[in-house]
Amino acid sequence: MQQLIKQKQNLVNQLLKYGNLVKGSINATCVNCNRATCICKSKTNKKAFRLTYKDKNQKTVIVYVPKERLKEIRLMISNYARFRKILDRLIYLNIESFRSACLAS
Ligand SMILES: [Zn+2]
Repeated sequence: MQQLIKQKQNLVNQLLKYGNLVKGSINATCVNCNRATCICKSKTNKKAFRLTYKDKNQKTVIVYVPKERLKEIRLMISNYARFRKILDRLIYLNIESFRSACLAS
């Protein structure tokens, strides 16, 4: 039991480490027509980057990302993936301890 509490505390500490997170995905669009597949007659290689995600009401939110901050936002996205993984593990541990407590009573 002591071991389990330790494991859980460890996971919670890890969650704090990855708190600088965002969910969503990054895609590039043409700076002129704003489309992923450019429809401009004179093509340009200039791209705009944006982060897209769904908010709690499942509404799509788009945030423009300056090119020089792409690395930062990518790190925040991967933090979200790590956070979710740790959260899943924490849920699993809690379910397991809940189950064994039910069996013991
Ligand atoms: Zn275009």
